[in-house]
Amino acid sequence: MKNFERKSDGKLYADGIAINDLAKQYGTPLYIYSQKTLTDNFNGFNKAADGVEHLVCYAVKANSNLAILGLMAKLGAGFDIVSGGELARVVEAGGDPKKVVYSGVAKSVAEIEYALNLGILCFNVESEAELERINEVAKSLNKKAPISVRVNPDVDAGTHPYISTGLKTNKFGVPIERAFLLYKHATTLSNIEIKGIDCHIGSQLTSLQPFSDALDRILLLIDRLEKENIKLHHIDVGGGLGVVYKDEVPPTPEAYMDNFKAKLKGRNLVLVCEPGRAMVANAGVLVAKCEYTKAGEVRDFCIVDTAMNDMIRPSLYSAWMNIEEADRSLTRDEHVYDIVGPICETGDFLGKERNLKVASGDYLVMFGAGAYGFAMSSNYNSRVRAAEVMVKDDKSKIIRDREELKDLWNHEHKFEEL
Ligand SMILES: *Cc1c(COP(=O)(O)O)cnc(C)c1O
Repeated sequence: MKNFERKSDGKLYADGIAINDLAKQYGTPLYIYSQKTLTDNFNGFNKAADGVEHLVCYAVKANSNLAILGLMAKLGAGFDIVSGGELARVVEAGGDPKKVVYSGVAKSVAEIEYALNLGILCFNVESEAELERINEVAKSLNKKAPISVRVNPDVDAGTHPYISTGLKTNKFGVPIERAFLLYKHATTLSNIEIKGIDCHIGSQLTSLQPFSDALDRILLLIDRLEKENIKLHHIDVGGGLGVVYKDEVPPTPEAYMDNFKAKLKGRNLVLVCEPGRAMVANAGVLVAKCEYTKAGEVRDFCIVDTAMNDMIRPSLYSAWMNIEEADRSLTRDEHVYDIVGPICETGDFLGKERNLKVASGDYLVMFGAGAYGFAMSSNYNSRVRAAEVMVKDDKSKIIRDREELKDLWNHEHKFEEL
């Protein structure tokens, strides 16, 4: 993984610093992010979209740390959000609300008010009822709400069922035929301004075909809308571009953008996209410490201090993530291990049947951990959440302190007789 490479001394480095040293300095579990990779990833997308007017909106839910949002904002990113909380984070980090698109099926009145008052770029409307609500809230604030309809194009993204979102059995978006009617209805609503059209068909896509199929269906809808004199300013193609965890061969951002640019040729539409995973996954690693090794009847266990509450992807999606020794200069016997955490669940594992040379006290590094890692972490089993650091060259900086024990019961109240 770029900027996370092993040097001739056998040690893995995060940019210019040995990961072992970072683990000793900051403790484990530890998330480490590369500022250079984050910067390259954003600039890569942005440059790949050159030639058409565009806005790259980083999908905040992939990793919502303020420092990462702040870096994205500095690079010129817009943001794709799915809650009022994410909008608050964007504002706190210094992001521009005018570059925010707001997706999600359950926007509350309070969230819609908050977004309208900040003047976001667009609401991605996910249902008929939501359009009515946005219109009512906008009316009460004497504002016009900018909207796109999130179309569900009914294409199979060919990805894990839990991260597929563009099938008619999914809760997301509005089917094409109803979307057409919804746009026509939107033109009759006093406080709605039609801005664009949107879709997002799933995550970790490793082929361009589903993106192409979805766009073809949407372009037909755009043509029908034009005949009704409904003109759009932008097309939001969503996120979903996959990354390499093992041996996947996802399209490059260039190929991904070229495909859209070719299809949008001659149409006067601003291209909006919402990459999350492809922006951050390979910009981060998660470091765990081996507490014990334990011989089992059929396989051995490497028991680490890092668990499904820190990184749930293997447990939730059966995701395979690469795990390596931080330091291969150490002399250890090789065994096949299941790498498991301290949590009292059999589903608590980071990897299964991995060949490793490891002993108690050694550090292991999980790759591709920058997306849907810390963002999905919890305090289950009353475990404090991990620390996060950013590195650049030989410098490192903490961007989230490890939680303290008292954080575990913050907001709780002791028992009192009622
Ligand atoms: C999750 C999500 C994204 C980002 O998806 P990635 O696969 O991380 O690129 C973009 N848009 C919407 C609406 C989402 O829900």
